[in-house]
Amino acid sequence: MTPFSYRCTDCQRTYPRTAVRYLCPECGKGYRPGIPLVGVLEAVFDYAAIRREFDRERPDWNLFCAVEPEFHPPLPVGNTPLARADRLGAGLGVASLWIKNDGLNPSGSLKDRASFLVVAEARRLGIDLVVAASTGNAASALAAVCASTGTRALIFVPEKAPKAKLVQMVLYGAQVVPIQGTYDDAFALSLEYTAQRGGLNRNTAYHPLTIEGKKTAGLEIWAQLGYQVPEAIFVSVGDGVILGGVHKAFVDLQRAGLIDRLPRLIGVQAESSDAIHRYVQTGVYSDAVNPTTRADSISVTCPSNAHGARRAIQESRGLTLTVTDAEILEAQAQMAGQSGIFTEPAGAAALAGLVKLQAGPDRLVGSGPVVILATGHGLKDVEAPLSRISIPPAVPPVLDSLTL
Ligand SMILES: *Cc1c(COP(=O)(O)O)cnc(C)c1O
Ligand SMILES: [Zn+2]
Repeated sequence: MTPFSYRCTDCQRTYPRTAVRYLCPECGKGYRPGIPLVGVLEAVFDYAAIRREFDRERPDWNLFCAVEPEFHPPLPVGNTPLARADRLGAGLGVASLWIKNDGLNPSGSLKDRASFLVVAEARRLGIDLVVAASTGNAASALAAVCASTGTRALIFVPEKAPKAKLVQMVLYGAQVVPIQGTYDDAFALSLEYTAQRGGLNRNTAYHPLTIEGKKTAGLEIWAQLGYQVPEAIFVSVGDGVILGGVHKAFVDLQRAGLIDRLPRLIGVQAESSDAIHRYVQTGVYSDAVNPTTRADSISVTCPSNAHGARRAIQESRGLTLTVTDAEILEAQAQMAGQSGIFTEPAGAAALAGLVKLQAGPDRLVGSGPVVILATGHGLKDVEAPLSRISIPPAVPPVLDSLTL
């Protein structure tokens, strides 16, 4: 591990690691549930030490990690494969297309990365209860990681979360509280819970180590491409924390002098859940009006990391776009059928974004690697693709009945 402190992403004040837990004590005074977080903290490492000690032959990723290895949960998380997607790439005019298959994490989504680090932090602090609000995957992830350490998990989820995700959290042994309301309602309630009754809050971006955890996906992409910075990375965006985390990976690498440029980040939102997209376009923030998308993991009225996500897009000279549910489900089928990777609708949104970009004036023309982050496993929500496919009817087991 490398020493680090926290810095407020709004006022730039820095704090020793032990002095803060969630938001910047100053800027955080201006936060109330229902607006994007203000005073989000980022971990700032001793980058000179990282530069000195990082060895590409035997990379020690703990140099970039904000919790000591002795507290890490025993459940291995991350190190997911980066797959070449030549068939998909050929159809899209992308010479070097890759899919980072994060659905292969233990609970089936990239959220395991954030939960892993926050649970490690809870162990460091000697806290035995971790509390979270989630659209589904963060909760499944927290429940899984907590199961491996014996930490208690208390979870607030919208009652409409997909069945498989609810089954996961219950089976992993979490205390699950379905909320008659939206994800945003669950977010507010979980903050009230930890403020008044205790436990460590794992809410996305509210706990700064959620961003650090998600960062590991970006570090892996760099290493898996043979220590190359990709031309662009397509990321589906709900709260904007995966986007912020992947950005932080390359910012850390740049600060340590290990890379000299950032990849362009392309943030993809669902058309009905487009608060960050509009914020990037206009510079003025307003909530999504009625986020009804089938891609439940990116269905957010008020994205907690809206400010950080916008900065990530701007600093990386990236862009955002929106896609319809029909485009998402089409992309899901396309990815499955042309790469063998079955990702949930939110993961497929990233590919839908690439498809859309390649059909327009801003299409990618370079030959550098382009990465799609497939953020969650397709089996988490089989109802979604069933709306556009049909399972063939059964036939008698007689060769003559086959017309194939
Ligand atoms: C949470 C999630 C996202 C979006 O991540 P944010 O940090 O909320 O932007 C995308 N895909 C999947 C599968 C997720 O679980
Ligand atoms: Zn501040």
